[in-house]
Amino acid sequence: MRPDVTLAELPLRPELVGQQPYGAPQLEAQARLNVNENPYPPSPALAQEMAQAVRQAAGQLNRYPDREAKSLRSKLARYLGHGLLFDQVWAANGSNEVMTQLLQAFAGPGRRVLTFTPTYSMYPEYVRNTCSELISLPRRPDYGIDLPAAWEAIDQLRPDVVMIANPNNPTGTSTPLAVLEQLLRVAPGIVVVDEAYQEFSRQPGNTALGLLNRYGNLAVCRTMSKAFALAGGRLGYVATSAAIVDALRLVRLPYHLSAVSQAVAEVALDHADELLARVDELRQRRDQCLDRLRRLGCAVVDSDANFCLFGRFVNRHKVWQELLGQGVLVREVGPPGYLRVSIGSAPEMDLFHSALEQVLSRAAHLMQSEGSL
Ligand SMILES: *Cc1c(COP(=O)(O)O)cnc(C)c1O
Repeated sequence: MRPDVTLAELPLRPELVGQQPYGAPQLEAQARLNVNENPYPPSPALAQEMAQAVRQAAGQLNRYPDREAKSLRSKLARYLGHGLLFDQVWAANGSNEVMTQLLQAFAGPGRRVLTFTPTYSMYPEYVRNTCSELISLPRRPDYGIDLPAAWEAIDQLRPDVVMIANPNNPTGTSTPLAVLEQLLRVAPGIVVVDEAYQEFSRQPGNTALGLLNRYGNLAVCRTMSKAFALAGGRLGYVATSAAIVDALRLVRLPYHLSAVSQAVAEVALDHADELLARVDELRQRRDQCLDRLRRLGCAVVDSDANFCLFGRFVNRHKVWQELLGQGVLVREVGPPGYLRVSIGSAPEMDLFHSALEQVLSRAAHLMQSEGSL
């Protein structure tokens, strides 16, 4: 092939032809409220401690890291509680990698993955990348899981993996534990509960971690990217049965988690209280955001996460663009006519609300005159 060969000329796998790489636009804006990050960086003292840990790791970078990340996994197990031991916890570069490994181990050609839409837009990508088959079951109008439909799908299609984001992204809605249990009872394969936003939930007890001692096929994924304010550290993890951890060890790449990542994450876990200190504040600001959006006449979805889905707009792209013009970057995602805003700092949220108010007052016709959800 010519050295200036183009992507379109490459012998790509057919399912990749014409596809775009996933990801929200990484644009400069005064208020970046589009990828559900925690707005608060680590304190200078904590950043200093992370730097020290990195300096120490740097002295041995000629060696491969601990391939089993034993020390980190022990700390994660201790952080989670619920009597979990290190051999029931696995870590990787973000929970996106953990979930890809789960599908590498349990899905694959001829195998099926059941998801409940609208949901996290990366799930179809893991399914595609592992050459599995995607089954998308629509959620109810309130974005809850339609249990009879789920039972029927599980009974007839026998999915190898069931994936549920709880709280769900982009809706922010939670699935009660009782419903998860009803799925766990009938699922023939692995059930993945993605709790990326669990720390922001109104009911912190609504975690599937408590079900682990009864269901060996349950995998509860967590991340340090959101509540933990460590998105740049790329550290996700899963609590599950020791057997499922052994399965993940079969498919992980050798030394997948760098010594630097392990060192930084361990320092973060040693200071979990400090990093999680502002979760309550973000949760309150989320509730205020829902109120303020309602007062502007928006339809909102009650969120248990650090973001709000709001609409409905005749042309959501136009609203997105106008907000960006005022320095506010939100996400164009979710059901038609809706936008998603992440909960930022107080000044960022003030900027967002006043920008939205202005956009809507200038162009009331952008709003669809339908009742709230
Ligand atoms: C943000 C997010 C994650 C976390 O991804 P990382 O790879 O850990 O940064 C996982 N699941 C959902 C639904 C998310 O929104």
